[in-house]
Amino acid sequence: TNPLYDALFGRNAGSDAPFLQLPGGDTLTHGGFVELAARYAATLTGLGLAPGDRLALQVEKSPEALAVYAGCVQAGIVFLPLNTAYTPAEISYFVGNSGAKLVLCDPRAEAGLTPVAAEAGAQLLTLAADGTGSFPDAAATAPATFETVARTEDDLAAFLYTSGTTGRSKGAMLSQRNLLSNAEVLVDYWRFTDKDVLLHALPIFHTHGLFVGTNITLLAGGSMIFLPKFDAEAVLANLPRATTMMGVPTFYTRLLAEDRFDRDLVAHMRLFVSGSAPLLAETHREFEARTGHRILERYGMTETNMNTSNPYDGARRAGTVGFPLPGVELKVCDPDTGAELPQGEIGQIEVRGPNVFQGYWQMPEKTAAELRADGFFITGDLGLIDDQGYVQIVGRGKDLIISGGYNIYPKEVELALDEAPGVLESAVIGAPHPDFGESVVGILVPQPGARIDTEAVAARLAGQLARFKQPRKLVVMDALPRNTMGKVQKNVLREQFADAFSEPA
Ligand code: ATP
Ligand code: MG
Repeated sequence: TNPLYDALFGRNAGSDAPFLQLPGGDTLTHGGFVELAARYAATLTGLGLAPGDRLALQVEKSPEALAVYAGCVQAGIVFLPLNTAYTPAEISYFVGNSGAKLVLCDPRAEAGLTPVAAEAGAQLLTLAADGTGSFPDAAATAPATFETVARTEDDLAAFLYTSGTTGRSKGAMLSQRNLLSNAEVLVDYWRFTDKDVLLHALPIFHTHGLFVGTNITLLAGGSMIFLPKFDAEAVLANLPRATTMMGVPTFYTRLLAEDRFDRDLVAHMRLFVSGSAPLLAETHREFEARTGHRILERYGMTETNMNTSNPYDGARRAGTVGFPLPGVELKVCDPDTGAELPQGEIGQIEVRGPNVFQGYWQMPEKTAAELRADGFFITGDLGLIDDQGYVQIVGRGKDLIISGGYNIYPKEVELALDEAPGVLESAVIGAPHPDFGESVVGILVPQPGARIDTEAVAARLAGQLARFKQPRKLVVMDALPRNTMGKVQKNVLREQFADAFSEPA
């Protein structure tokens, strides 16, 4: 047997039910997808890839790219999708570090990646967004059937590199059990069925679009409206056919900027899910006022898939990520001693469960430091459990500012800044300070057409926050630097404002 293959793909073999609904009007059935996957599994095996080998892929989103994932699972090959924004120099690190045997890239990147693959001793083939390229060419003559490679739930299914928000990306090793257990829990928790049509506008190189959305759709036998990327026009045009949507917070703020996005358009929808970055309470409120739907916010990460979710039936609380999922244990611990903290106190979030990864590839020390012997993973996120058991994320451990010996949680300051007149959003960072070690810098983004009076904002904050928490410098910027998953890149801001307090006055 091959538990992940059997559950996600094998069970849909021969099915005429739609799986991928494509923008041009074409539909790929579940059965057709399973067939394509088998052809790819045969092709990859023919190219010399053995169970346990890694395949790295940096291609545009397409049904074929997803079928490579399925083919890898069937052939026991470890699937390693890479962000399409990465440059050849970055790809060189991932390919070399992972020891990938084969790299699939867009034909446009072939020239740039040829020396990269050669240096790593990997083969290089192409796969374009329209399904053409040297890899599909090789597959055209491959057998259409493939004998599924036996695997256990402990075998690795994928390597996913973390987003690199806090430093260099780390390769998280994910087993079949990690992926399967999470998909099973989420199908149940979010009530996915074969009637569901998921509007899928996320990239497929990240845990959110690849595993959360896709795996649960496959497991439930439902279908996806498979859009190449988020585009407000295309999303508005397709929402009438969808039952559910998953997105990063920016998807929701962009939809709210469209007048046509209203109650009538989404009255038939049953679920909107948000994750990957914090959803502003204001977005939550505005979305509900506009549509009558409350967005369900959940919390996960590359290393653990999904950890928590707001309830399907119960109250979805804005500013929280809900409860630990069934089978997932979550506790809040003292960052220094590791001891569990009482309810309501802020500390390091740790999780344990079948969703927790197998360690960082070739980083035994980092793995040992973050994955405790008792199975708890130190997530690096700071948070608390509120009086009703909901988990709140207050930020990342690495973003904590220590000024003159005081701990400052950037999110607390950001929430205060966000409420100031004319402010759309904000980011708070620490910059080196000669007296205090670090001091606070607040970066403000104005609402469209608004002007921000930084002195008025500072005066307002003086009445709200203790003096040590108040930004000593407030700066206005047009937009915050974000990565493709909508995460604010605080490391970029920290670099930019590294001299904020060291310049001569
Ligand atoms: P790196 O680990 O390389 O610095 P990263 O942590 O951003 O990058 P991911 O695994 O893609 O890489 O992101 C997981 C992180 O995203 C979580 O640890 C958490 O900080 C954040 N996150 C995910 N969902 C939410 C949410 N609903 N609210 C707040 N933060 C979230
Ligand atoms: Mg991380």
